[in-house]
Amino acid sequence: VTPVFTRALAFGDKIAIIDQNGEHTYKDLFSQSLRLSQEICRVLKCSSRDLKEERISFLCPNDSSYVVAQWASWMSGGIAVPLYKKHPVPELEYVIQDSQSALVIAAEEYVEKMAPSAAKLGVPVLPLLRSHSDGSASHTALEEVPLTTSSSWKGRGAMIIYTSGTTGRPKGVLSTHENVQAVTTGLIDKWEWKKEDVILHVLPLHHVHGVINKLLCPLWVGATCIMLPEFSAQMVWKKFLSSQAPRISIFMAVPTIYAKLIEYYDKHFSQPQVQDFVRAFCQDNIRLMVSGSAALPVPVLEKWKNITGHTLLERYGMTEIGMALSNPLHGVRVPGSVGTPLPGVEVRIATETSKSGVQSYSIHAQGDENSTQVTPGREGQEGELFVKGPSVFREYWNRPKETKDAFTPDGWFKTGDTAAYKDGVYWIKGRTSVDIIKNGGFKISALEVERHLLAHPHITDVAVIGAPDMVWGQRVSAVVQLRKGEMLSVKDLKDWARETMAPYTIPTELIVVEEIPRNQMGKVNKKDLLRRFYPS
Ligand code: ATP
Ligand code: MG
Repeated sequence: VTPVFTRALAFGDKIAIIDQNGEHTYKDLFSQSLRLSQEICRVLKCSSRDLKEERISFLCPNDSSYVVAQWASWMSGGIAVPLYKKHPVPELEYVIQDSQSALVIAAEEYVEKMAPSAAKLGVPVLPLLRSHSDGSASHTALEEVPLTTSSSWKGRGAMIIYTSGTTGRPKGVLSTHENVQAVTTGLIDKWEWKKEDVILHVLPLHHVHGVINKLLCPLWVGATCIMLPEFSAQMVWKKFLSSQAPRISIFMAVPTIYAKLIEYYDKHFSQPQVQDFVRAFCQDNIRLMVSGSAALPVPVLEKWKNITGHTLLERYGMTEIGMALSNPLHGVRVPGSVGTPLPGVEVRIATETSKSGVQSYSIHAQGDENSTQVTPGREGQEGELFVKGPSVFREYWNRPKETKDAFTPDGWFKTGDTAAYKDGVYWIKGRTSVDIIKNGGFKISALEVERHLLAHPHITDVAVIGAPDMVWGQRVSAVVQLRKGEMLSVKDLKDWARETMAPYTIPTELIVVEEIPRNQMGKVNKKDLLRRFYPS
């Protein structure tokens, strides 16, 4: 097990990152990181040899400084804790405090922002000045990093990433270098990453999607990552369609980003010649487009295919397990499904639980399709998804009870998501706590209802929730965002849905909102929605 920076020198003068400040080679990133790691050790008054998983928070823009802060934290034996620029101050302070960080690294533009919080919490701030990156690489030998030669990385903490907080207060997930490497190499293997690849990075860097899938994968293989300061539909289209080298070969995003790109396309690319050009250019240059972090609505998948010719590859993951399930690179990508386990990942669907633990499983698979076992008669049955493997995190930071509760006695991580296995692939039905609506004897997947409703011509976005009901336990309620100027009644919806939806899954309540509240990763906090519309 080795962190990604130990591979950097082998790629030398190859361009690792292209950002708003220009191009950065692998060698430059390495030497800047080494310099910063020496600063870290100076501030913490220790040599990196005796740093024992010290947490190092850092706030950087989406550019090469993020990589430098992350690598420097690792070089000095610390655990990297990325902060997010758009988080309000109390949220930033929560992460610094909860992770018990010994130091905050702040990129030049954030020093002023971080200073008062750090002073309040009694944590030193180390500015990461742009001038640090000037000049030629002076330190370029791997031997100058003490840890690479002195200790093993295997069980050592690499990063604490906070969960999205969709179902409660964000929890700090501590992943080891082994965990991070397992996710990285699993994806490289499955999606055939190579050093000629060029990825366009537009996601926040405080969740695994942005950190591992879009950044560590390219850096591991010696590819190039083009980083935008933040997502802009116009900029993404411009980059997709740029004939300048290097051309984008891989793109990954959350479903809402694809929806916004489609919206932009509809508005600006209406001429047939332009549309033909877009399609041909995307087909010729881009080899892979991935969606994840939330369920991909089938209408978005279909529209995207019409526009670019690409069938989005949907995959499933979470902070605690990295990536677990993925549709194939080659072969059939089944709309609405998340494919099969990634290399090294074992999954099960637990269908019956009791106080003594899980009693039976409908499925047990590992890494390749051939090892899948289905208990007869169980195919398609829903249950909680369990995961095992080297990508599964070590602990929730400072939360021993939550960590223990998250695993079965025999070591399976309980995802809290309901899933099913059918037709050779896995299907995510949603979070057991908020997406599985119990209506009388029925269990209804909010995600499936959402998929149907999104096909309605007036509905542009939707979140389905289970409203408390005296008689039925819960009833299906749809919070919808409508196309400008359109109206929709429950009766209209029922008439429209009758042909395609089972009667008990059709919403009996409609709440029209200006905009469905989604976070940066396209996730809806359904507990908040329930509190807002059904206060108890
Ligand atoms: P918290 O744990 O704080 O409530 P969170 O679970 O949203 O927040 P993440 O770890 O960022 O935090 O998100 C993981 C979750 O995202 C998964 O448990 C799953 O519910 C959802 N998810 C990810 N990919 C998919 C997908 N392809 N389809 C459906 N759901 C997905
Ligand atoms: Mg979660």
